[in-house]
Amino acid sequence: MKLHEYQSKDLLAKHGVTVPGGEVADNPADAKSIADRFGGKVVVKAQVLMGGRGKAGGVKLFTDSQAASDFTKDLIGKRLVSIQNPAGMVVEKVLVAEQIDIAEEYYLSVLMDRAASKLVVMISKEGGMEIEEVAEKNPEAIVKVHVDPAWGLCDYELREAVGRANIPNVARGQMISMIKKLVKTYIESDADLIEINPCALTPEGKLIAADAKVSIDDNALFRQLAYQETADDSAEDEIEAEAARRGIAYVRLDGEVGIIGNGAGLVMCSMDEVKAAGGQPADFLDVGGGAQAERVKSCVELVMMDPKVKGILINIFGGITRCDEVAKGILQAIEELKITIPVVARIEGTAAEAGRAILAGSQIVPAQSMQEAAQKIVATTR
Ligand code: GDP
Ligand code: MN
Repeated sequence: MKLHEYQSKDLLAKHGVTVPGGEVADNPADAKSIADRFGGKVVVKAQVLMGGRGKAGGVKLFTDSQAASDFTKDLIGKRLVSIQNPAGMVVEKVLVAEQIDIAEEYYLSVLMDRAASKLVVMISKEGGMEIEEVAEKNPEAIVKVHVDPAWGLCDYELREAVGRANIPNVARGQMISMIKKLVKTYIESDADLIEINPCALTPEGKLIAADAKVSIDDNALFRQLAYQETADDSAEDEIEAEAARRGIAYVRLDGEVGIIGNGAGLVMCSMDEVKAAGGQPADFLDVGGGAQAERVKSCVELVMMDPKVKGILINIFGGITRCDEVAKGILQAIEELKITIPVVARIEGTAAEAGRAILAGSQIVPAQSMQEAAQKIVATTR
């Protein structure tokens, strides 16, 4: 679950990390009074869960509070689009933060290195820009330090690492101290990512987390009580957020073939078959066990929210799930949502005969096997 920048900074501040002062606002009047508190010298930042807000026009510096307030008025309700998130996200809140003078921008992050089964800290002097870009063009500019699960991080390792990253002397001690706090926050909050970009050095030589991105491991939300309530709203993608509200396992992908199946394994097989047939999956959607007609309809509706979808493949193997229930749901969805794009269904297992009978004579194209279903849907969407 991704936290907004303001939530991330609150969490980090509680752990002693230096962050700029600031407060969140959802209207221009509040933005003005917050900006006044900092003498008008603020940065207004869209609170949307996507990267590259700066380039997308969602971050702007001001020297007077009225201008900051006017910008807030423009920004709220606007859809920001970035390279990382071409569908974009609508701005509901802004962070009005004290504007700091920045001499240099560095990059810091803590994440899980699964291959090494250890946390890894990444340090770079090339902050400000996207780290993926640095990784591609100048990979040696990223220094990695693994955190020993038993010993944690030792000072000498960190001193060596910030030295290797060419962080200037004035910032080294502060950065070492910040990294330790980040790792402590990571572990105590069950985070799966903490990223500070930029980690800013002021002309006076003070190190400040000017931007912060924290993500909490969804599997730990049962004990990270502070974040449970906001969990549903935190998906980066609007359709994924809606799926979370409906309790449906859905992941949005880039292709054009909508995929619905029951059981994660069967859905992944269906995706493989679509790829093998030359198509690209538009999503992963698992209707779950024992799905009723109403739920199946809700799933079809969800898949149809993605405008890229040109056809839908439905792959059901009825065990607990009854195929006639699923068929009823599909039919209802097609009729009520007035779906005109091709739909291919492969239905096998409990009550399959009854299910196929329900679909017979409708616009839904039947298929005997998964492969056949994939080939048929890809042929119509290509
Ligand atoms: P992102 O584009 O979503 O990563 O948003 P950031 O918070 O990183 O802001 C983008 C850029 O705006 C940063 O890299 C900085 O160069 C600049 N910026 C953000 N906050 C401040 C600030 O307080 N002072 C100054 N001078 N620049 C800032
Ligand atoms: Mn940033």
